[in-house]
This record gives sequence, C-alpha cells and structure tokens, in this order.
Amino acid sequence: MKGNFELSSLESVVSLAKRRGFVFPSSEIYGGIGACYDYGPLGVELKRNVKDAWWRSMVTLRDDVVGIDASIIMHPKVWHASGHVGNFNDPMVDCKESNNRYRADHVSVLRVEGVEGCPMIAFIDDGGKAREKAEKRFSKFASGNFPSDHIETVLLTDIPLSEFGSVVGPDASKPGTLTEPRMFNLMFETYLGPIQSEESKVYLRPETAQGIFVNFNNVIDTTRVKIPFGIAQQGKSFRNEVTTRHFTFRMCEFEQMEMEFFCKPGTDAQWYEYWKNARLQWFIDLGADPEKLRIRPHDPDELSHYSTGTSDIEYRFPFGWSELEGIACRTNYDLKQHAEHSGKKLEWKDQTSGASFTPHVIEPALGTDRAMLTFLVDAYREEEVDGNQRVVLGLHPRLAPTKVAVFPLLRKDGHPEKAQEIYRRVREVYPAAYDEAGNIGRRYRRQDEAGTPACLTVDHQTFEDDTVTLRDRDSLEQRRIKVDAILGELREQFGF
Ligand code: ATP
Repeated sequence: MKGNFELSSLESVVSLAKRRGFVFPSSEIYGGIGACYDYGPLGVELKRNVKDAWWRSMVTLRDDVVGIDASIIMHPKVWHASGHVGNFNDPMVDCKESNNRYRADHVSVLRVEGVEGCPMIAFIDDGGKAREKAEKRFSKFASGNFPSDHIETVLLTDIPLSEFGSVVGPDASKPGTLTEPRMFNLMFETYLGPIQSEESKVYLRPETAQGIFVNFNNVIDTTRVKIPFGIAQQGKSFRNEVTTRHFTFRMCEFEQMEMEFFCKPGTDAQWYEYWKNARLQWFIDLGADPEKLRIRPHDPDELSHYSTGTSDIEYRFPFGWSELEGIACRTNYDLKQHAEHSGKKLEWKDQTSGASFTPHVIEPALGTDRAMLTFLVDAYREEEVDGNQRVVLGLHPRLAPTKVAVFPLLRKDGHPEKAQEIYRRVREVYPAAYDEAGNIGRRYRRQDEAGTPACLTVDHQTFEDDTVTLRDRDSLEQRRIKVDAILGELREQFGF
C-alpha cells in the first residue's frame, strides 16, 4: 500500500461532504442561502458523535461539571448586561461600486511599502488563489515596476482613512469605492408576542454562555456542586456574520459547546493552564493530528477589557491557521454584570466560613460545526492501493457515523439472510449499515468514504466454519473471526 497523506484541499472535503451526504447547502432547491448549511444522514450522525464526545469528557466523566440546556430566546436585558447590545459589533466596509459588504478586519491589502499614491489592492485572503489574483491586479493598477519583495500585505484596518482613496476594493474595478468602516451589530433581532415594538424586541442568542451565567443560582440551589465547578451547555447560536467563507467554518446559525468553570479568585491562572491543556488533548484523543494543532495566546491588544488571559486552539486548515476554540479567563465580569442588572446576588457562599464571594470564570468555548469541519478535514486522505485510488475518512471510531458495515458476498446462497442476521445483532450495540449492492470492492470504497472503521463480510466459508471476514479501514487487513466473537473483536478494535 502506498500512502499519500497530503494536506487535503478544502474543495475535496466539500465535494466528499456533498457526495456522501455529510453537508448540503441549506434550501438548495431554491439556490441556497448564504452561510447556512444542512447536515445529511452521515453529517447528523457525525455531529451527534462530536457533541457526545464533548459531553462525555466535559460532563459525564467528571464529578465537577453539570449540564444545562437554556432557552435560545432570553430576556433582552441579558444582552444589555453581557455587553452584546452595546459592543457586539464588527467593523464593516461597503463597496459603492459592487454593493458588497465586507468585515474590515477580514480584508487584506497589497501595497508597496512607503510609496505614496501607489494603488493598494484589497482582497479576501482565502489562503489560496485570492492572493495570486490580487498580485495580478496589482501589476495592472501600479504603473511603476515594483520589485515583488517590496510588496507587503496588511489588513485594511491598518490603513489610515486618509489613504482609502487609493484602495481598490476586492470586487471593484477602480480605487476609492470603499466606505469608511462602520460598526454593525451581529445579533439577530425578532419580536416576542403579537405586537412588534421596541418593548417586544428580543434577540436570538449569539452565544450559549449567558444562559449559563443567568442560571448560576438555580444550579447551586439544586445540585451539590462545590467550588470549583463547571456548568456546560451545547446548543444553537446565531450571528449575522457578513464575511462568510470556508464552508461551515463561519455560519450565521451554528452550534456551540461552552463551559463556564467557576473557581476561587486567585486560582484562575492554574485552571486556565489546566483547561488549555485538557481542551487541546481532547482533539488529539479524538485522532486530530497534533502537528496541525496549536495554542495561540492572544496579544494584550486582542484581549477583552475584563479578560486576564485568552488563548485560541487553532488548527492548520487548508486556508491557514484558524481558531477552533477560545479559552478565556473572564474574571468575575459576567456574574458581576448580571448581578448589577438583575439586582440579584450571584455569589458563592462558603459553608464553613460563611464568607461570600463572586467566583472567577474560565471559559472553554468551542464551535460544534468547526470541530466537525476539523475532524473531516483532518481525517480526509487520498491514497493508492494496488494501483487504485481510494478516498478514506480516517475518523476516530467514536466519531465515525457508522461503526460497522455488514455485507453478503453474494446476493444468493443464503448470504443475505445470514448477513442480515449479523447486522441486526451488531446494530443493537454499534451504529451499523447493511449493503448488498454492487461488487464487494465498491462496497468497501463506499464505507471508506463514509469513515466506517470495520466491515464484516459473509461468504461461502461462513456456512462451513461460522466465520466472517473482518476488514480494517486503515490497515486494510482482513482476517476471519468467529461469528460469536464479532462483538468482542469490535470492542477490541474500537476501544469501547
Ligand atoms: P471569530 O473571531 O472567528 O469570529 P469569536 O472569537 O468571535 O470567533 P467566540 O465568540 O469566542 O468566537 O465563539 C467561540 C467559538 O464558537 C469559536 O471558537 C468558534 O469555534 C465558534 N464560532 C463562533 N462564531 C462562529 C460562526 N459564525 N460559525 C461557526 N462557528 C462559530
């Protein structure tokens, strides 16, 4: 077997995701709707598995974390207290020529260092062809001959407004069509009740975290948690993102998995270290390539005013290093804000000393869809086996949508009946598939693309010695095992 574990391009993953029913564009028969996606039969299973793996490690296997599931629509005061109504803004620029709108901090600009009046070419850096195209446009606009090592890339937000007149927008044909950046609130608004007025205005939550803070008292009053402890939540969040690209990386409707870990003031640094490492390890334990993962601490000017430290776990996607998860020390900011706005005490009372204090918080916040995309991209590989190309999703067995596929070698001689019998037994324990269509090689390929780690095949010999072949997705090893031993063998292979 010749392995070819190249960095996959995002397009191959998008195409596999569509072809095999992981991800579809939303409302596709109507032409789709920007940045919204649907998960198909395999995608929904993968998503459940990612969520289950997170819940298992963050809640089920811990004594110090409990879960909740809060409402998406919350009291509008929540978002005033959290600062989202006032501050949850991104700087946007409009292009007067193309009428497109861009997030200013997502626009890159090519310019020649220190040359005044030289045109600057704006582009959205996708880590691929966009920069090359921008360079071509640059030579078209710049009359002088500039050595390429003097061309630099900066962010639009670093260009003084007085120089905007020289910037050619990403989709414009001439300079000077971009407006100055304006702040744009990312929250979706709607109305609760029959009357649409300012009083009935509510928001779709832009993060799940606030549902945790507002339930702080409910949880401590109804459970036996003791500080330090965490409250975890998974669920949908909504952001009116303007620059959406890279498939499901940035969507307007997405899911988050967040946990607020409440600890004694002064122990923040220690728990911050702990959670950074634990969260990185989670991705590695689920098979993600450690070489493509890193922890990036935020620069002081990136930090929110209340944060004493934030790090992103980043993954090296085909489009470059990008944030998967943020781990933030949020001090006691959120509980204090909600205490002030609600007039309720949100404190921890020490039973022995009777002293009360507002706990500090460490927040690991992960996007479910981004985690899925990471596992898909990371697992994707194309390789050559005996002169044939195969596409494989080398997903960790915990994440694989289907764990086992059962095939009859032939559609006669009692093979289908026997295979059905085995399939029905196996699926009681592991999500399984049954397939009798097409030649056996093609059936294996289909399961390789779906990421199924094990295939069982019934053949003539099954009726002689009660054995089937067990084929391993990654090593391609095939060995005969007793029908009675199937579940034990699978448990051995999967580790659960
Ligand atoms: P970004 O800088 O990429 O906009 P953020 O720093 O605003 O993200 P957080 O508010 O920290 O993101 O959200 C926590 C996590 O939620 C992110 O690390 C990401 O995995 C996920 N997430 C945030 N926005 C989106 C989105 N629009 N689509 C998909 N996932 C998202």
